Amino acid sequence: MSIIITGRETVSDSLPINVLPFDEIAKQIVTHPILNSVQTASAYSHVRYNDDGGKLREFFNLFQNSFNTAHDFITDKYWFDLFMEMSTSSKVEGDCISLAQLKDRYIGIVESLDGKLGLKGETWKNEENLIYGLTDTLTELCEYRVLLKGFIIKCQNCFSKYWYHLDEVKDLIKCRGCLKEINTAVEMKFEYKLNDLLKTICFKKW
Ligand SMILES: [Zn+2]
Repeated sequence: MSIIITGRETVSDSLPINVLPFDEIAKQIVTHPILNSVQTASAYSHVRYNDDGGKLREFFNLFQNSFNTAHDFITDKYWFDLFMEMSTSSKVEGDCISLAQLKDRYIGIVESLDGKLGLKGETWKNEENLIYGLTDTLTELCEYRVLLKGFIIKCQNCFSKYWYHLDEVKDLIKCRGCLKEINTAVEMKFEYKLNDLLKTICFKKW
């Protein structure tokens, strides 16, 4: 881009003007705004993509850098309240929940609002559809690694119960309490644990 400057003489000249890309202009407007030709101090002069610990960046990384997905997560009262509870849980085995507990929790909320689930065939608001819906959301949250899949295993020696990530579980695993080896059960159900990253980023009381 350029403009033509015509002087008093008959000679004209041109002055090239470099137009910055929008993201650079936006950054300058926020960090160093110029009002009435005067550069103004801004409280946001140190705005960066990430905070000192990179927590904000990691938070959005969890949602594959999608603001919309992060927004959906933050504004969904059912899940957000659940995560708040999980992040402040003092249970020894960890901050985890099963699909059955998720279902009961949902039904409890519906009943507290004077509602109830109906029968399949009569209404779509039935238990089967509820489980489908919860499973879909669980799958999505596990893909984002907001929730992690694992199992609660009770030690046959010291009777401690701890949560173990799916990748850790083998026929024999070491108890986190007494450090002796434990035989894992024949059948186990998934317990979903809140990612510690979210726990420290979003729900820690600073
Ligand atoms: Zn043990």
